[in-house]
Amino acid sequence: MLAQRVKELKSSPTLALATKAKELKAEGHDVISLSVGEPDWDTFAGIKEAAIQAIQGGHTKYTPANGIPELRKAIAQQVSSDTGVEYKPEQVTVSTGGKYILFSAIHSLIDPGDEVIIPIPYWVSYPAMVGLANGISKLVECDETQDFKLTAASLEKNITKKTKLVMLNTPSNPTGKAYSRDELKALAEVFDRHPNVVILTDDIYNRLMLDGGLSAHILNVAPHLADRTLSINGVSKSYSMTGWRIGWATGPQSVIAAMSRFQSQSVSCSCAISQQAALHAVTEGAEDLKKAVQLLAERCQFVCDQLKSIEGIELSKPDGAFYVFPKVSAFFGKSWNGQVIHGSREFAQALLESQKVVLVPSADFGLEGFVRISYAI
Ligand code: PLP
Repeated sequence: MLAQRVKELKSSPTLALATKAKELKAEGHDVISLSVGEPDWDTFAGIKEAAIQAIQGGHTKYTPANGIPELRKAIAQQVSSDTGVEYKPEQVTVSTGGKYILFSAIHSLIDPGDEVIIPIPYWVSYPAMVGLANGISKLVECDETQDFKLTAASLEKNITKKTKLVMLNTPSNPTGKAYSRDELKALAEVFDRHPNVVILTDDIYNRLMLDGGLSAHILNVAPHLADRTLSINGVSKSYSMTGWRIGWATGPQSVIAAMSRFQSQSVSCSCAISQQAALHAVTEGAEDLKKAVQLLAERCQFVCDQLKSIEGIELSKPDGAFYVFPKVSAFFGKSWNGQVIHGSREFAQALLESQKVVLVPSADFGLEGFVRISYAI
C-alpha cells in the first residue's frame, strides 16, 4: 500500500536508543539523556509574553505563506548585518522550523538525479531530505584530520556536471566545529570556478559560538556569491524555542518565491502566534541569548575537562553549537557484558546499559569512531 519513497524512509536513528532509555526509565532507572539537541532552559520570558499578547491581540489566523511582513523585515535586517549583504524582506521566507525550511529549499532546487554534496559527519536529515526529492547525496568524508570540515580540495574533487547544491553547516551538528573565514574563502574560490553550484548554508547554530561572537558566513568573505547562496536559520536553538516551529531562509528572490509557493501548497503558513513570538526573539532576544551562551560555554568547559580525564578518549574542543564529539574508538574491540564493542553504536548501547547514559553514536552521522554529547541538557 505504501509509496516507495516512504517504504525506504528511515525514522530518526536516535529512536532506538530513546526507546531503550524509556524502557530503563520505566523500570525505575535514573537515565541521563545527553542525546537531545535542545536547551533545557525555558523559552525566555519576554518571548512567552509576546506570544500571550499575540493571542490576546487576535493574531490567531492564517498569515501569508512566507510569514508576516514585520518578521520578514526583522530577519532581513538581522541577516544583512550578519552577512554584510543587504537583504530585502522579499528575500526572506518563514515557515514551520528550520527543518521544514531545509525540506522546502531542497524540493525547490533539486530535480531527480541532481547531486548534493554533503560533508560527513552530517546532520541526519540532510541525506533523507535529498532522497525524498530524488536527488543523489554525494557524501564527502571530513574526518578529524581536517577538523570535520570540507576542504577546498575535497570540494573541488567531488563537484561533477550534476552537482547542484553543496550543504554547509557552521557551527556543525554533530561536531560543534565552525569554519574560519580563511576556510570559507578557500571554499568560495572553488565555487567561483563552478558557477552553477548553489550553496545552502545551515546557520541554525550561528549565534551559539562559545566565544560569544557570531560564526563566520561565506558571504562575509565572498559577498558576490549572494545570488546563489541560500542561508537557513530559525529560533529553535538560539532562543530555546524548539517547540514553536519557526525557521527561515534568506536568498535569491526567485528561490525564495518558489519556496513560498511550495510552503503555501503544503503547510499554508507557520503558527501566527509563534511568528509574533519569533519577532520578539529576533528584535529583543540578544541579552537573554548572551546569558545562554555564557552558560553553554561553562558547560562545554566542564564536559571537555571531564572527558579529557578519561583514558582512551580523544577530544578536540568545539567552537559552538552545544555538542562535543569525542573519539571513542580506543574502546572498540573491548567487551562489555560478554559483547564485543565493534563500533559507536555498540559503545553507546553498552554505555546506556552499564551507566544509564544516552549519547548518540557517530555512525548515525555517517562517520565511525565517535559519539555526540549534547551539553544543552
Ligand atoms: N539544522 C540542524 C543542523 C539542526 O541540528 C536542526 C535541529 O536539530 C535543524 C536544522 C532544524 O531545527 P528546527 O527545525 O527545530 O528549526
